[in-house]
Amino acid sequence: MPTDSLPKQVEIWEVAPRDGFQAEETWIPTETKLEIIRELASTGLKSMEITSFVHPKAIPQLKDADEVVSQAGDLNLKLRALVPNVRGAERAINVGIKKLKLMLSATDSHSLSNANATARDAQQKLWPIADLAAKHGVSVGGSVSVAFGCPYEGKVPLERIAAILTRYQEMDVHEVSLADTTGMANPVQVSQMLRYLNQEFPEMRFSLHLHNTRGMALANAVAALQEGVLDFDSSIAGLGGCPYAPGASGNIASEDLVHAFHEMGVDTGANLERLIEVAKNVRDRIGHDGGSYMLQAGPNSALHQKPVSQSKLG
Ligand code: ZN
Repeated sequence: MPTDSLPKQVEIWEVAPRDGFQAEETWIPTETKLEIIRELASTGLKSMEITSFVHPKAIPQLKDADEVVSQAGDLNLKLRALVPNVRGAERAINVGIKKLKLMLSATDSHSLSNANATARDAQQKLWPIADLAAKHGVSVGGSVSVAFGCPYEGKVPLERIAAILTRYQEMDVHEVSLADTTGMANPVQVSQMLRYLNQEFPEMRFSLHLHNTRGMALANAVAALQEGVLDFDSSIAGLGGCPYAPGASGNIASEDLVHAFHEMGVDTGANLERLIEVAKNVRDRIGHDGGSYMLQAGPNSALHQKPVSQSKLG
């Protein structure tokens, strides 16, 4: 696709308050979470995956989900929350969440370890959530974890993704997040999958959730952009671990994605300078980042003084 036909504007969903925080072992006080959320709201980013309504015992870090959402309600952000079951959906709807994201794995091995059911059975169990949401006028998006590769099964056949999408359609879910949960995707694969899915499911709107575990997230984002994807998840300071690759990078960093898109003439609505400031603050508060080129090198626009002598450059 020629670059002049790239989309002019995309929507970035900030996922650090969910994907980033849930990867942190050390308890982040609710007030600190809210400070970070307020800072993120000051960057111009408008959409946020704010938490996950999982059982507090499953992810103790997010046990304050209800309170976080209640307190963040006045921030003029579009909020989305992850819900694993009907109980979680009820909690989310009770505190005013208007957009639910369903959790589902592409492969049986990953699904059995996460949801204790095969992918097909786990998806059947999502029906009551969709029904509840419809009753309350709340929108529902689907997701497919390990869509591009599973740490247990390797490559995932396209037919398997298509079968999941068909079942989502039956559930009246027409927005689906394709997640590269453990950073196994490559740009050629991303293009091929999106071309196939766009053809088979022209009514579906796809978003990309990319982890930079193996350094391919930005390239994958560009590949998706070229196939017309308009929604991307990212996480401030690259927070968000990968339980299968300890020490590896997290989600694609919001500041890196915004920088890359702006350099390519694609607007995100975010203020990059402010985003980098917030990334620094978040790194200081959490004690580390999850991999961020902006925090390492700064943006292209931060020009350096020309050296007086060139001799050392050879
Ligand atoms: Zn993730």
